[in-house]
Amino acid sequence: MVFTRTGALIVVVLGIAIGAIGLITAVVFQNAANSMSIWERFTSPSEYDFNMEMVGIGWVVAIVGGIMFIIGLVLLLVSVQSSQGKSNAQAGMMSPAPAADGMGGFCQYCGRPVSPDAVWCPGCGRSLKKQP
Ligand SMILES: [Zn+2]
Repeated sequence: MVFTRTGALIVVVLGIAIGAIGLITAVVFQNAANSMSIWERFTSPSEYDFNMEMVGIGWVVAIVGGIMFIIGLVLLLVSVQSSQGKSNAQAGMMSPAPAADGMGGFCQYCGRPVSPDAVWCPGCGRSLKKQP
């Protein structure tokens, strides 16, 4: 994995931050544009245009932040799932599943699976009956 869980988390947090900055920018300049009267919009169109331009930029930044947030979330899920798979595999290698009662078991000498009614291990030939 190129992206670690920490890296994915940073992308998620950055996405939230950038999305919030974009949203705030869009809302602030939308309010500024809305607060201008019809007369002000007519007399100073460049100021109105500037406000609406900033609204557009704010929305683009907000969308970029949202996309980053989603990508970070996907990376986070992938990294969590892959690490879970890894730990499951390690646990499987460390401790083989114990045989359930009545399902037989493993030879205590060579580890070969044996049937529950077996008297002799088919692998090493030793007696499977426990010594009293
Ligand atoms: Zn054996």
